[in-house]
Amino acid sequence: MSAKKAYDDVLRLMHEHHKWFNTSIPLIASENIPSPAVREALMSDFGNRYAEGWPGERVYAGCIYIDQVELICNDLARRVFRAEFADCRATSGVVANLAIYAAFSSPGDWMMAASIPSGGHISHGKKEHSGTAGLVHGLNIEHYPFSKEEMTIDVDATKKKIEEMARNGKAPKIGMFGGSLFLFPHPVKELAEFMHDYGMYINYDGAHVAGLIAGGEFQDPLKEGADSITMSSHKTLWGPQGGCIVSYARHAEPIKKAIFPGNTSSHHLHHVAGKAIALAESLEFGKAYAKQVIRNAKALAEALASYGFRLLGEKNGYTASHQIAVDVTKFGDGGTIEKELEKAGIILNRQLLPGDIKAGRHYMHPSGVRIGVPETTRLGMKEGEMKEIANFIKRVVVDKQDPAMIANDVAEFRKQFQQVQYAFDNAVKAYEYISLTGSR
Ligand SMILES: *Cc1c(COP(=O)(O)O)cnc(C)c1O
Repeated sequence: MSAKKAYDDVLRLMHEHHKWFNTSIPLIASENIPSPAVREALMSDFGNRYAEGWPGERVYAGCIYIDQVELICNDLARRVFRAEFADCRATSGVVANLAIYAAFSSPGDWMMAASIPSGGHISHGKKEHSGTAGLVHGLNIEHYPFSKEEMTIDVDATKKKIEEMARNGKAPKIGMFGGSLFLFPHPVKELAEFMHDYGMYINYDGAHVAGLIAGGEFQDPLKEGADSITMSSHKTLWGPQGGCIVSYARHAEPIKKAIFPGNTSSHHLHHVAGKAIALAESLEFGKAYAKQVIRNAKALAEALASYGFRLLGEKNGYTASHQIAVDVTKFGDGGTIEKELEKAGIILNRQLLPGDIKAGRHYMHPSGVRIGVPETTRLGMKEGEMKEIANFIKRVVVDKQDPAMIANDVAEFRKQFQQVQYAFDNAVKAYEYISLTGSR
């Protein structure tokens, strides 16, 4: 392929992607659509600069405006998360977690975290699974006992496990809360004092739920006893891809060192500007958004249940977050169903559910799918639209209608939802392709 053809192909494929997303229903729980202002930040010259260090103490010149933006960003993060300290330089949620591991543990230490089928994230994982905590920082991992019925960590069994680990000379150094399949709050309040008595440091990984915490609609981990919150800036928090850490002033120094020089050199300054904009939007619109997200997730869950889908967390009303988990084994497996839905323009992902590994299921063909509503909510959809989405899903999965035909109906449905809501500006359409080259 000639250089020019490759160049043209990349531009064309990005156009195609925008067109596709503009006519689809985006239901990936870890994704969102940022505002035009955030997209503007990503195109700015900030993305071509270096600013190693802390504002005012940089290793590079040329940071006069960048410093001011970063100070605004950290100030907004402190206000949004009601925290004494914020560092928004982590270039992703994984980097934020790595910084916490580096700041508060040493290789060979033990950490408690949720297993992947219980909702944990690979960045909390064991070395033998190539999990970041084990592979990169050399932590040993013990998994929380998890209640499938309650879909959260089992408090009493966890206390017993920590006591036993301490007796065997494996007292854990870090208690990691939070996860990727995350329907209900984790018991931070119930375990914080116990863990602190064992000398544990408590981090809450709010990658998925940061936007809900910001809106005051999920749980308030710092108030409940966590020492820090790590997060992604682009899931329910609607910023550019990146990470952030909020904590107490007493932990500021080790966290700052672990971010730079420990885990970053460039910290992607265009993303810092984008995070600041997203945090300002969150301060203004975050509460209303978080409320609607949770209402939408519940409405989608109820509509799917009414079509005969089996949902996890039924006992507690299916969800208290932005996502729902559906056991699809009645209709096939998660991997196949994900592919069929994608053909219909319904974009979600397969999901390992609790018990899947024990049952010998592979992550390519797990028993479930995970559905999230952060993006559809940002596009302005409400409970009524959730019922329509449930109906599209039913037509593909239960009625086995032709996905290509449903894709047309999905595109028609999407026409009414073209703009980002909960934003100061929305002059440009949500998925409008902004060309700087005049390419078509
Ligand atoms: C998505 C996710 C991460 C990783 O975040 P990135 O920003 O993609 O690096 C970390 N932890 C949890 C629980 C997640 O769901």
